[in-house]
Amino acid sequence: MIAGPRERGIGMTSQRTRERLVRRLGDEGIRDARVLNVMRHIPRHLFVDEALASRAYEDTALPIGHGQTISQPYIVARMTEALLRGGHEPRSVLEVGTGCGYQTAVLAALVPKVFTIERVRALYSMANERFRELKLYNIRQRLGDGYKGWEGEAPFDGILLTAAPPQVPQGLLDQLAVGGRLVAPVGETGHQVLRVIDRTDSGFEVREENRVSFVPMKEGLE
Ligand code: SAH
Repeated sequence: MIAGPRERGIGMTSQRTRERLVRRLGDEGIRDARVLNVMRHIPRHLFVDEALASRAYEDTALPIGHGQTISQPYIVARMTEALLRGGHEPRSVLEVGTGCGYQTAVLAALVPKVFTIERVRALYSMANERFRELKLYNIRQRLGDGYKGWEGEAPFDGILLTAAPPQVPQGLLDQLAVGGRLVAPVGETGHQVLRVIDRTDSGFEVREENRVSFVPMKEGLE
């Protein structure tokens, strides 16, 4: 996957800088070695504007235009870990909110098939270019409203939201396979928590975890 000098990175985007980020994620409590390893290798600086590349391995959210952000690495790691925890090995995952595509790329390194939906056309196109550049062929993208999910490909073993709805949309719970798990930030801005929902034979098991801060999930196309 890693090829030319831009991908390899120099100085502030070098392997050493990435190692520092991964160490920090470990210090913050990320334990899943698979997740840490993937984050060590995915060039996050390619997912942000070149002017921000030198800050790509800081543990912080960064602007990606259109009022949206690339999620903080800790949150990407935390949500991915939550999706896989307890021996879960999803074969297919639906992500709502492609944004710049960084979380999508992390998922694509760990899950055989990743479906991702974005409502802003410009972000959809930018992510598309990056997936091609990085040869991530197990990602399928759609421009659309994530509230509706992706009917034709459901059910999914995993669903991950990277924008926060006020409540978990029932339409998405319906597209979760029995034995599957949904991970989502839920709530109004300033009062969001990370929710992990497992679908069992008899219904849904809901857990509330960290307090988080995501952009709101909006309805319809931009
Ligand atoms: N996954 C990104 C985070 C992007 S921010 C990362 O790795 O950094 C959240 C994204 O969700 C934004 O791009 C926003 O446009 C998108 N979004 C918000 N509501 C949506 C909806 N209903 N359907 C699809 N995408 C949505």
